[in-house]
Amino acid sequence: MSEAHSSGARATKYVFVTGGVVSSIGKGVVAASTGLLLEARGLKIAIMKLDPYINVDPGTMNPFEHGEVFVTDDGAETDLDLGHYERFTQSYLSQKSNITTGGIYNAVIQKERRGEYLGKTVQVIPHITDEIKSRIRMLTAESEEPIDIAIIEIGGTVGDIESLPFLEALRQFRLDVGPPNCCFIHVTLVPYIEAAGELKTKPTQHSVRALRDIGIQPHIIVCRTGPHTLAQDQRRKVGLFCDVPENCIICAEDVSPLYAVPMHLKEQDIDLTILQLLGITPPPSDTSAWEAMVERLKNPKDTVRIAAVGKYIEHDDAYKSINEAFVHAGIRNECKAKITWVDSEKISSDADAAAMLGEFDGILVGPGFGTRGIEGKIRAAKYARTNNVPYFGICLGMQIAVIEFARHVAGIADAHSTEIDPQTPAPVISLLSEQRGVQDLGGTMRLGAYRCELEPGTKAREAYGEDVVYERHRHRYEFNNDYLEALEQAGLVVSGTHPKGGHRLVEIVELKNHPWYCASQFHPEFKSKPLHPQPLFTAFVKHALERKRGAL
Ligand code: GLN
Repeated sequence: MSEAHSSGARATKYVFVTGGVVSSIGKGVVAASTGLLLEARGLKIAIMKLDPYINVDPGTMNPFEHGEVFVTDDGAETDLDLGHYERFTQSYLSQKSNITTGGIYNAVIQKERRGEYLGKTVQVIPHITDEIKSRIRMLTAESEEPIDIAIIEIGGTVGDIESLPFLEALRQFRLDVGPPNCCFIHVTLVPYIEAAGELKTKPTQHSVRALRDIGIQPHIIVCRTGPHTLAQDQRRKVGLFCDVPENCIICAEDVSPLYAVPMHLKEQDIDLTILQLLGITPPPSDTSAWEAMVERLKNPKDTVRIAAVGKYIEHDDAYKSINEAFVHAGIRNECKAKITWVDSEKISSDADAAAMLGEFDGILVGPGFGTRGIEGKIRAAKYARTNNVPYFGICLGMQIAVIEFARHVAGIADAHSTEIDPQTPAPVISLLSEQRGVQDLGGTMRLGAYRCELEPGTKAREAYGEDVVYERHRHRYEFNNDYLEALEQAGLVVSGTHPKGGHRLVEIVELKNHPWYCASQFHPEFKSKPLHPQPLFTAFVKHALERKRGAL
């Protein structure tokens, strides 16, 4: 039991993380790093993100604009910051860890329709704010172990119309649980102005003023300063104008790799300051495993080149968890996995595939929706199969592998997925039975963790070192078992299945006479952590490395 609990103070304490000046300054990483540092002191944490947009969840939002949709074990489609939370901390999160304005209003309107507010005018204050507060309480309410500290990040930027109800709810919440039980961290941008040759703290002052207008006085200000360092006199200035002691002004300059951020914050004692503010005697800190991991990450002994074949993407965050899972697999293999995106629409022939993919040590075909670039992906899978290049398929990438194998090995020339060609005479990939008749697009895919049983003697079984695993899903289409026999006879190995109502859903396929060709219907990237790299990613990178070294 942690210090806070053994000392008799059983109530959960709260750390709120708000953002100022602009969005996308790394609030999520600050929240996640804070979680890590508190866990390193043996404290039990819970962590959550409040998103001020109207979508009920981010599942219907374009990942190329908003970044990836992160899926939890219990099948919630959530903000990508939850990925940071899971990777930095020991937690495996659930749908309780992400709520949106849309979700809050949805719940309140349903209550109103059920007559739960009968006689009342339903208003932002108190009904919306009450709903927000009850969701924050729910985060810790049913936890198996008592939560010492709950970290709540508020999406968006202070000053936005949309975030007002959330901030008002936090203001009230502080009063409800008692001011000494709450700590507010405000993360702001401190821009460097080239012409003046200095960092400017004015936007931070304005943003803190906006926060104080709402009735919230931040206790800690984390200044994002780009590559620059906040000088002592500037710290003093921010402190003076924002009414915050100097030791509570943290300079968060850009650090690389991202996983070094917790150490950078720890050097400035952010964790000690939080605990002091919350009245918790700080237990000793042990971040040695994390630090050793960061050292390994900084000192790779080799580099492998992985081609990620897909749509041309501009938004780096669209495949955040996949990129991170490769970082983790690289750490485990003491190498850097360098990902290069190859536009599948440009792979128009087998010769193109050879020309564009020839230089790589491994080929990935990742998740995707829609019809664009599909034939190019199929050519990439064929190139990997026929040239003994390690291949890893994820979700759509597994469906592509099945189509390619059916067409070119099993002789089913018209093989296709009904997602791409609804009229195909040979639907080797077709709609999941429970998806037939589904009209709504929000939250209706096959989502979350499912049991996957692994076949002895397969590459997948070898990679995991376990008979049964649980991996997360997000798809509507699946391997059509009508073709199972034909494809198995042609040599396709089904190495992982999910038992369902007397039959088995295909979860992993692989090839026998190939160094490493493995593809999963699930998304293994979501469960990868830097200290626990995902086994399929690790095996793929290992074989890519062997190919590079001429062992394959
Ligand atoms: N579009 C495919 C399906 O819905 C694959 C989805 C994915 O790659 N996440 O089944």
